Amino acid sequence: MRAFVHRGQVTKVVFGTGTRNGIAEEVRALGCDRALVLSTPGQTGQAHEVRELLGPLAVGVFDQAAPHTPVAVTEKAVDAVRAAGADCVVAVGGGSAIGLGKAIALRTGHAHIALPTTYAGSEMTPILGETQGGAKTTRRLPEVLLRTVVYDVDLTLTLPPHVAAVSGLNAMAHAVEALYAQDRDPLAFLTAGEALDALATALPEVVRRPADPGARGTALYGAWLAGTCLGTVGMALHHKVCHVLGGTFDLPHAETHAVVLPHVVAYNAPAAAPAMERIGRALPGPDPAAAVFAFAGRLGAPRALRDLGMPESGIASAADLIVRDGYWNPRPVDHEAVRGLLRRAWAGEPPQARSPHSPHPDNATGARHA
Ligand code: NAD
Repeated sequence: MRAFVHRGQVTKVVFGTGTRNGIAEEVRALGCDRALVLSTPGQTGQAHEVRELLGPLAVGVFDQAAPHTPVAVTEKAVDAVRAAGADCVVAVGGGSAIGLGKAIALRTGHAHIALPTTYAGSEMTPILGETQGGAKTTRRLPEVLLRTVVYDVDLTLTLPPHVAAVSGLNAMAHAVEALYAQDRDPLAFLTAGEALDALATALPEVVRRPADPGARGTALYGAWLAGTCLGTVGMALHHKVCHVLGGTFDLPHAETHAVVLPHVVAYNAPAAAPAMERIGRALPGPDPAAAVFAFAGRLGAPRALRDLGMPESGIASAADLIVRDGYWNPRPVDHEAVRGLLRRAWAGEPPQARSPHSPHPDNATGARHA
């Protein structure tokens, strides 16, 4: 028996097909009647469709959401909220629109409802990352937890297959790190395993047949579970690496997760046997890291950080940042190991095979972060 602490979720989740048609009732159920709809410029069409569904409850659309939640955009959006007299925000989109909704909720105290359209999982977390002056800060704040999440499989049908592939790998990364999280609990482990099973089954189908609502539904179900993991337990080396790379070199979020994941699985394999066994059930093969690498390749995901725009000269400085205030990790992290991992990921090489000289997890060091 392993003692544990579990934190329950407060967010109401509605999951299905056509569920967006009930968005007005969800807004009213929160005691709100003046909703500002949020989206990125690329999803203005979906935002206006939701505005129509809200009818007289909608007070406008703000479609300037951007990746990494720039504070300058949030300030404009808060002005729009105040000018329209909005009493809640409805985000339609992925992590960019939902990040903006969280930033507005933090500054105004207004309720935030989301209709997620990617697999990034932000809608299920109390995590807010914001950028200002070229620096990204990430915080866990209960105030940014969403009140209601309406998953509508229909809204994901337009997510292009190559974006769905990397977004799905982003979700798998949340589940993988939940399996070996320092504060993992039995529910998080079960949830993460189910998320991996769903995503491993669905993503190849989504890429092959993007219009198949069955595969899209299973992928979105896996994404919900993976986002729940991200929201309830702490993450480790993988999320630290992606956070540093995204923030330092402005690399695309989901693609960076897709490239890095097999390398971190390889690194942590010797110190996280139950997690590796569970990954192996979702993606069978003699070596879980090789299985994740092959799976990402089958989805057509990018393999090399250099192809995402990372300069080779950045490897050493990124390793410094990753090690300097690293997250807790099941296997101790040192500069040389991280440099090796980054070099392989930068070049697009396969992950390093499992080391026979593995340190025991009890010797792991580092602080726990979101
Ligand atoms: P995104 O929201 O930026 O979407 C990617 C692109 O796909 C955008 O151009 C968007 O308009 C388009 N798109 C999204 N859904 C679509 C659909 N159904 N049809 C057509 N086009 C669609 O990307 P993302 O990966 O979902 O989110 C990335 C952001 O979220 C980053 O800023 C990341 O840091 C943040 N994030 C935060 C958390 C958290 O818990 N705080 C978790 C994951 C990601």
